[in-house]
Amino acid sequence: MTPFKKNQSAQRPITLTRPEPMPKGEIIPWLVGFAATSLQDLEHQRPGDLPNLVYDLRRWLDLEPDEPLNAEVAALERGAVRVQKLASCVRQLLEAVADHRRFEIRYKAGSVILDAARLGAEGGRALSYRDATLIDAVQRVALDDLYENVEAALRVRRCAEESCRRLFFAARENQTYCGHRCANKMASRRYRATHGAQRAARERERYERKVRARTGAGVKIARRSHPPPG
Ligand SMILES: [Zn+2]
Repeated sequence: MTPFKKNQSAQRPITLTRPEPMPKGEIIPWLVGFAATSLQDLEHQRPGDLPNLVYDLRRWLDLEPDEPLNAEVAALERGAVRVQKLASCVRQLLEAVADHRRFEIRYKAGSVILDAARLGAEGGRALSYRDATLIDAVQRVALDDLYENVEAALRVRRCAEESCRRLFFAARENQTYCGHRCANKMASRRYRATHGAQRAARERERYERKVRARTGAGVKIARRSHPPPG
């Protein structure tokens, strides 16, 4: 295939109906789920799952029908690797949010268009951004959404269980674990830590009583430098 032909096919206009935009309340939880998308998941999905994911991506980005990026988005249905790349850039952004770190992106290029005829008119945005690349669009829209919905952004967290550290969207204000499994794991570790020490103390007492019974009360019993394992 000559580069010219390749270029031609990439520029074939793609007409897609514009889906209903994603409701505001669904956006941040959806982004957290999207960020967790791995290539392995994408490769082991049922047929139809990737197109569904791409459809949700379109609902979220809410591109104008005439935006050139629509073609790039449509091509994602055949490109799990590219979907994974977008997911991992969202993940880096959300990790910065969860860890309260600074996050900086460099734009390739783009433009902002003010359509003054639409100012004050119903439907259609008067101000729209045309990002040069899909990665730029994904990062910019994600940043916008996080900034516009601070309450939801503060619920993007990392699981407090050290062996997990997964990103999750907190359903409750004070949720610190991604789910029951991690919460239970931490609870049983805490139980072992406190009750293990109590059990060690009880065993020590029993041992001391036994030794005294054999040797008489005046004998000092040497303490091991480390408590017995609980
Ligand atoms: Zn977890």
